[in-house]
This record gives sequence, structure tokens and C-alpha cells, in this order.
Amino acid sequence: PRTYVVTGAASGIGQATADHLRSQGHRVIGVDRQQSDVVGDLSTPAGRREAIAAIRAQASVIHGVVPCAGLAGITGVDPELLVSVNYFGAVELVEGLHAELAAAGNGAVVLLSSNSTTCQPGWSAPVARACLSGDEARARGEAAKVPAVIAYPSSKAALAWWARTEGVKARWAGAGIRVNAVAPGLIATPMTTEVKADPVFGRFADSYPTALKRPGRPEEIAALIGFLLSDAASLLVGSVVYADGGTDAIKNPRRP
Ligand code: NAD
Repeated sequence: PRTYVVTGAASGIGQATADHLRSQGHRVIGVDRQQSDVVGDLSTPAGRREAIAAIRAQASVIHGVVPCAGLAGITGVDPELLVSVNYFGAVELVEGLHAELAAAGNGAVVLLSSNSTTCQPGWSAPVARACLSGDEARARGEAAKVPAVIAYPSSKAALAWWARTEGVKARWAGAGIRVNAVAPGLIATPMTTEVKADPVFGRFADSYPTALKRPGRPEEIAALIGFLLSDAASLLVGSVVYADGGTDAIKNPRRP
């Protein structure tokens, strides 16, 4: 059995991922604001430090980290808080567990990007670039200039960029730690329920195009994450894998 860390483990994709890994006999350290092995707030540097310390107290070897904690880009969500949770809450946690991932010898990281990065036009490259620079104050400053609906795909693009630019470096790939990302489409989770209730964007959720004519199930993303964590995915490094029932293919048919 292996030891995995899953954030956002109390709901949706994180919960399904924790369930999937546990059903395979693995140990999962779940992290969330509520009902989890480690209860903490990943929106602040202090909260992340505490969560990392609590995880390290429970495991010296970690085979995989899956940061699922995230906020939706909807009306009423603070875009500065959104980039702090979605981007820094993921990347800083992964960075903080580098030694434990390296100790596994075959570690893996799966980041939660989103198909909104290629299917939702008009996101902010300055927000994504500021995230990737690692300067949280600057990223929050850029995010403050846009609504949460724009900050969301910007934060998710930055996570995909991080997987592709940092994941190939000696610090990660060279230490046997494969970094990849998944780009889910519309998945039926509590987050999607919030999106559907949004007074401005809610009505677009039902007109979201998929080839399958249905939203995804969290278990379908959990299965993909489980594969990416496993040795069966040993050649995947810096990949951003879409799992969206065909939405990206419909929107971008000639994007290779
Ligand atoms: P969800 O809202 O069901 O679950 C998110 C979890 O994150 C919650 O349990 C919440 O408590 C936790 N969380 C939020 N802020 C936190 C904080 N500051 N500290 C600790 N935990 C915190 O969401 P979901 O739909 O399962 O989404 C999981 C991930 O997948 C997110 O990163 C989301 O952006 C991404 N994603 C979701 C979809 C979708 O359609 N549902 C699509 C693409 C990407």
C-alpha cells in the first residue's frame, strides 16, 4: 500500500479520489477545512505551513499528492482568495512535501487544472503569469483587477503551466516525481451546484456542450487521477489530460 495526500478531500472530486485510492488499499491523508484527517485552511501561507507540518508528522514517505481544494469562479467569490486557494494552496503544499515525495522514489503529483483554460475565452494571462512567478501578493493584486469568473481559468492555466514548466525540471522529474495535471470539464459536484445557482452564470451551465450530453461524475476524474498516480502512467510527465466528455474537442477541434 502507498500513502497519498488529497486536499479538498471532504467533497466532490477530492472525496471521490480519496475513496478510489482507499478502495485500492492505499492510505490517504485527507486535508480540508472540515471533516478530514488534517483540518486546515489552505488559503493562507500560515494555514499551508500548519497543514504541511501536520501531514509530515503523519508520513515520512508520500507516494502522491493531489491538491483538489479549490473555489469556483462565481459571483460573490473574492478573486484574490480564489488564486490563493486554487494556485498557491496547491503549489505550496506540493513544494512543502517535496522531500517526502522524493523519498518514495516513484512519487507523483496530479494538479487539478480545468478545460476552462481552453474552452472559456478571455482569461487573464497577467494573473496566470503572476501566479507562476510564485509572488502571491502580486498574483492577488492582478486577480483583484478581474472578476472571479476570469480569475478561475487564470489560476487553472497557471497550474497547467506549473506542471509543464516545473514538472520537467531536475527537482521533480529528476527526483523521480512525475508531475501531471488533469483538465476536467463540467463534473457533477457541490461546486457545480454552486455554479448552477449563480445569478449571472448559472444558466450557461446547462448549455455547456459535451459529446456525451451529460456532465462528468467525480468517480470518472478519480479513476483518471488514480491512473496518473500509478506506475502504469510511468511515461507521463508534464501532461495535461483532458477528461470532459468531448467539450474541448468540440470547442477546439484542430488543437493538437
Ligand atoms: P468542491 O467544491 O466539491 O470541493 C472543494 C473542496 O475544497 C471542499 O471540500 C472545500 O471545503 C475545499 N476547500 C476550499 N477552500 C479550502 C481551503 N481554503 N482550505 C482547505 N480546503 C478548502 O469542488 P470539486 O468540484 O470537487 O472540485 C475539486 C477541484 O477540481 C477544484 O480545484 C476545482 O477547481 C477542480 N475542477 C472542478 C470541476 C467541476 O466541474 N466540478 C471542473 C474542473 C476542475
